[in-house]
Amino acid sequence: MLKRCDYPHRVFRYCPVCSASSFGPADGQHEPVKRLLCGSCGFEYFINAAASVMAIIERADGVILLTRRMKEPAAGTLDLPGGFVDPGEPAEAAVVREVQEECGLTVRPVGLAGRTYCNEYRYGGVIYYTLDLVFFCEAVSWEGLHGGDQEETQTVLMPRSLITGESFGLPSVRQAISDYLGNTLR
Ligand SMILES: [Zn+2]
Repeated sequence: MLKRCDYPHRVFRYCPVCSASSFGPADGQHEPVKRLLCGSCGFEYFINAAASVMAIIERADGVILLTRRMKEPAAGTLDLPGGFVDPGEPAEAAVVREVQEECGLTVRPVGLAGRTYCNEYRYGGVIYYTLDLVFFCEAVSWEGLHGGDQEETQTVLMPRSLITGESFGLPSVRQAISDYLGNTLR
């Protein structure tokens, strides 16, 4: 069963430095809360957006590489290959790594979309604010492509004429693929 998720300021309720319970949104903070402050020792912590990447990989015949999410959030819905950027990792390296991990495909990013997307990703009891970057990628070769690990993702190849935004469960991905199919994402 999916654990109830909440915003960071409602999950992190004790100061990680002095353990005081007077740890919470700094005065005057509205949602989304960006800064947590300890009323006892003065420790402050900033809640920042987590960078994530998605790849748009379209073959010459108009088939687009997608995945199906096997786990929550949005289990069973379509997704674009991608994921969170690791600490210290450039986004263009993250997109290459994520596509390789999920689909076995080696890609080369050839462009970064001129707009970005925001999402609230609910996982493991806490909501992560994400900032999603979309990379246009081309496959170095299609030979390594596999069906996914079946536990987290399945690989799906789908002609663009059959793709609709409603099949995508994560709001930012739904918007990005809709923009791409509508030729407004460049
Ligand atoms: Zn403290």
